[in-house]
Formats: sequence, structure tokens, C-alpha cells
Amino acid sequence: MEHPENDEKYLGLTVNEGVAQPPIVNPYLKRKRRKTLLSAGEYVEGILKGNVSILSQAVTLVESQNPEHQSVAQEVIEKCLPYSGNSRRIGITGVPGAGKSTSIDVFGLHVLKDGGKLAVLAIDPSSERSKGSILGDKTRMEKLTLHPNAFIRPSPSAGSLGGVARKTRESIILCEAAGYDNIFVETVGVGQSETAAHSMVDFFLLIQLAGTGDELQGIKRGIMEMADGIVINKADGDNIERAKLAQTQFRNALHLFPLPPSGWTPEVLTYSGYFELGIPEVWEMIDRYFEFVKANGYFAQKRREQDKYWMIETINDRLKSNFYNDPEIEDLLISKENLVLSNKLSSFIAAQDVLNRYFEKLRQGK
Ligand code: GDP
Repeated sequence: MEHPENDEKYLGLTVNEGVAQPPIVNPYLKRKRRKTLLSAGEYVEGILKGNVSILSQAVTLVESQNPEHQSVAQEVIEKCLPYSGNSRRIGITGVPGAGKSTSIDVFGLHVLKDGGKLAVLAIDPSSERSKGSILGDKTRMEKLTLHPNAFIRPSPSAGSLGGVARKTRESIILCEAAGYDNIFVETVGVGQSETAAHSMVDFFLLIQLAGTGDELQGIKRGIMEMADGIVINKADGDNIERAKLAQTQFRNALHLFPLPPSGWTPEVLTYSGYFELGIPEVWEMIDRYFEFVKANGYFAQKRREQDKYWMIETINDRLKSNFYNDPEIEDLLISKENLVLSNKLSSFIAAQDVLNRYFEKLRQGK
């Protein structure tokens, strides 16, 4: 088609050729590229520089079930170990509704006021996708989430409590290597997760509520015994008196327990997470605890014991998964199970048969 206006004498009135129509689908969204793994050295370098994105990816790797990811993760952990340990590890537990999220939000901001960095991790074995998570499916810790020096991770989701806890423990190492000098480990306060959390923290804080009428009955004695501090939340408005009463009851109850191996007498305080009352007092108590156990040597002793505990736990974990993931053993287990169920074989002999086969395979290096 002729365009006379393109003639030089009509300069300024040229007709351009059209451009190609953009595709309907955003080309950047079209292909979801799989993230390529960095090398262990690259992860470590990023972590040591405090690169949050790399730390986050490394934690994901720790949590992954994929054997390739696991082997890189283990190398990263090993290389980070010399840089770990320089933090205060604090376990925080309480039943759902006790105010953990609200409290961690204000506790976290309080801790960060003095500088430093805070990582909030969680152990919640219920968080496996289908079962729904208690510690993660709502918007939690709104202020802390926005803080540049806070790193918040929901609970690892896959596997048994032991597996979930081990991953959280490994994530602590990575966070410490990345310079996080305060680590909170949150649990739900309804079951076994507390024991797991207790085995990886220096200080264990139990958040309680007053005013339910049966203050002491609702708490598992074991959890109370683990606590280095009990704090009664929601001491605000017309709840203050009840909180004070609960404080006295808890103090009396604690007298009945033997003195813990730390030599520290657990304290009981009241506060309000929501109205931000009594927060500095809670942290003064925690500071006092750290001073006390560092002076009497218990801090270092407990960490050594925890290291030993986690070594054994890791061995148990690996042995179990090596045994149960062996396809031949899996088949053998099923056939022996059937024999046991139909009363053709005793459970002890069946177990012995399967173990013998497993050990034989190990000897043969299969
Ligand atoms: P979590 O399930 O333990 O994490 O508890 P949340 O932090 O989600 O709190 C449960 C409910 O208690 C929420 O509705 C909070 O607003 C409320 N809550 C938390 N802390 C306080 C407090 O100090 N005082 C009062 N009155 N309510 C609070």
C-alpha cells in the first residue's frame, strides 16, 4: 500500500510498521523454572553474610525429603556448625488461644529494640498439609513479620514429631550462623512437642491463662516441670485480679516440685500481650536466668547434653528410615505381619526374622 505521507517533504508524519501483538499469556509466567540448587559452599557463604533469601532456601532444603536436597543440607549444616551456638534459644509454649502469637509479636519487638536479630521457628507436627496447622494458618505476628531483623518460619511439615523437631533444631544452627542472636521456638502446648522443644532451648517459657477456674488442672504436670518461667497472659481489665490469683496458685504449685537441675527457681509473672503490660519484666526475668545459668555452668552443660541427645536422635532417625525404606524389608514386613495376624508366627520370631534379613543385607553390603 502506498503511503505518500512518507515522502521526505511530509517529515513528521511517517507511518510506522505495526508491532507484533503481545501474546495473551504473560511470557514470564509461562514456564515455571525449577530453582536450581546452589552448591553447599554458596549456601554457606550466603548464610554467613546474613542473606535472608539464601537462609530461607537453605531451611527449605533442610526440610525437604528429597535425598539430593538432604545431602546438600547436611553439608551446609556441618559447615555452619562452627558459626552456631551464639544465641539465646528460648522455647515458648501455651495452649491454642493462650496468646502465643500476640505475645511473640510484642516479645520479639521488645528484644529487637536493643538491636540484634530474631528468628521465630516452630514445632507443630499437626501442620502436615491435610491435618491443618495450629501454628501457621492465620496471619500471625503482624508487626514482627514486617521487621527487617526478624525471620519467621512456620513449622516444618513433613513426618513424625522426631523428624519435625530435628529439622527445627537444624534450622536453629543455620539461623545462628546467619547472625540471629535470639531464637524463639514455638510449640502448641498440647502434647509431645514441648519435650522436643525443651531439648533444644536454653529457656522454656510457659504461657498460661487465668480465670478458667481450674488453673492447675488443665496443664500437664510434665510441661510445668519443664518451665523455667511461667507467665500468665491477659492480665488486663477485670482479669487482673484473677491473673494475680493464678500467679499465687502457680507459685504454690511450683514449690511442690523438686528444684530443677539448673538450680534456678522458676518464676511466675503476669502480663498482657495485647495491651503490652509487664513485657520488660518478663524479659528481665529471662535475662536473670541467662546470667544465673552462665555463671553456674549449667548453660554450657545443658547445651552439651542437648548435643549428645541430638546425636542419638539423629542416629535413631537415620537407622529407622534406612530400615523402613528398604524395599525388600518392606515386602518382608508385610508378609511377616500377615503371618503374625493369622497366628502362624509369634511377633518376636517375626521381628527377629526381619531384623536378621536386614543385618544380613548390611553384612553383604547390599
Ligand atoms: P495463640 O493461639 O496462642 O497464638 O493465641 P493468639 O495470640 O492468637 O490469641 C488468642 C486470642 O487472645 C486473640 O483473640 C487475642 O487477641 C487474645 N489475646 C492475646 N493476648 C491477649 C491479652 O494480653 N489480653 C487480652 N485481653 N486478650 C489477648
